[in-house]
Amino acid sequence: MTALSSRTHYFLGAASLALALAGCAAAPAGPATPRRAATAEESARYAALARVAQSDPKAYAMLEGLLRAAPRRLAGTPGAAAAEAWGFATLQSLGFEAVRSEPVRVPVWIRGDVEEVMVLGADGAMEPLRACALGLSPGTPVEGVLGEVIEVRSLEEAASLGERGRGKVIFYNRPMNPALEDTFAAYGGAVDQRSRGGYVAKQIGAVGALVRSMTTRVDDHPHTGAMRATMDDGSPVAPSAAISTRAAERLHGLLQQGPVRVRMRLSCRAEGEGMGANIVGELRGSERPQEVVVVGGHLDAWDTGDGAHDDGAGIVHSIEALRLLKAAGLRPKRTVRAVLFANEESGLRGGQAYAEAHRTEPHFFGVESDRGGFAPRRFQANWAEPQFSELADALAPLAAIGCAQLARGGGGADLTSLERLGVSCGELIPDCAHYFDYHHAETDVLAAVDRDDLERGALALAYFLDVVANW
Ligand SMILES: [Zn+2]
Repeated sequence: MTALSSRTHYFLGAASLALALAGCAAAPAGPATPRRAATAEESARYAALARVAQSDPKAYAMLEGLLRAAPRRLAGTPGAAAAEAWGFATLQSLGFEAVRSEPVRVPVWIRGDVEEVMVLGADGAMEPLRACALGLSPGTPVEGVLGEVIEVRSLEEAASLGERGRGKVIFYNRPMNPALEDTFAAYGGAVDQRSRGGYVAKQIGAVGALVRSMTTRVDDHPHTGAMRATMDDGSPVAPSAAISTRAAERLHGLLQQGPVRVRMRLSCRAEGEGMGANIVGELRGSERPQEVVVVGGHLDAWDTGDGAHDDGAGIVHSIEALRLLKAAGLRPKRTVRAVLFANEESGLRGGQAYAEAHRTEPHFFGVESDRGGFAPRRFQANWAEPQFSELADALAPLAAIGCAQLARGGGGADLTSLERLGVSCGELIPDCAHYFDYHHAETDVLAAVDRDDLERGALALAYFLDVVANW
């Protein structure tokens, strides 16, 4: 399980990097923009949605409700069950059809209350570094692990240490590239240290791994995230923690002055498997109800912050988009189905279970929102021509909110399994400049989300769904 999930996470990072590089290579083209003005019918449908969105918006209040009901909702925990209950009740109260809970078996990982990284001075002085366990990491013995720190910039550099790594703590300190405008590409270019740092550390006999947090900001907040938890023989990798970017700078500075020893104590642990659920609700299609367009985000979140952007925003985008269609009296030809996926962060089991359970059902398209609640900028879709350019044309009314662009690309992590079955997918792409300031950190709370940006994301998604489900 964990090997698979971490491979998938790594693959996603590599994929977004490859995508970004491909985007750079084709830079003159960039995302497609509409080649024509909106038709009267497109304008009228957008206006109907915008009227509801502007007079009676509900996404932000919904996000507040989710974060109040389930601020901590990592898969397999009581918080995840509370989030599922909130999702079910919300879909039902909005009057959607076929509201249900589809069970998903999920891995259970508990952070515990000890996560301590301490620099040990020669004189017995101790200096703590702001740290948190990486998701799925094995814990340390109660007394911790102790070792001299070796700083590296890559997995390859760590591997090349060979025997010199034995008994040490490997410190991965290659920052996300701040020059890249696409912060997802910068993330993709650095996240292998988080995904596989503990694995490579264990290969060379190191006792622990420290990873510079995945953000371009320099601050005191450590960012967690999934990592590969087991070696090829099933034994645990080296215990691994993220340290804040400021702590990483501090540790780097200390290492310039001479050898540094640290003690890591982590009480996190895996606790087998538990049950979770994908929560589903629909707006049945008016002409082809058997054909489904899925819209979704993930209901689980890392346990460091409240998961307001990641992915509370995507959850309420999806629900609010359905509500806007219904309230505006637009019932598309195909069924539009909101899926609140379980367990994206620590295993991707929700997306896998959904694809497995629905593999014989005709799916026309899947669209995800899992890039935060910032101002919507564009969509992406993996349709071929001429449909791709026609879809870009049909987005013309979204120019009103700065979101009339279509890039080439598929769905988010929850849709990978559906995409593998051959279903066309896409994603809502908001402004990403500050996404990684909050991603998987204690700062990902309601106050980090702008009300108008969030509501506009839901409006853009509702219009996109109307176009695709009527295609
Ligand atoms: Zn996410």
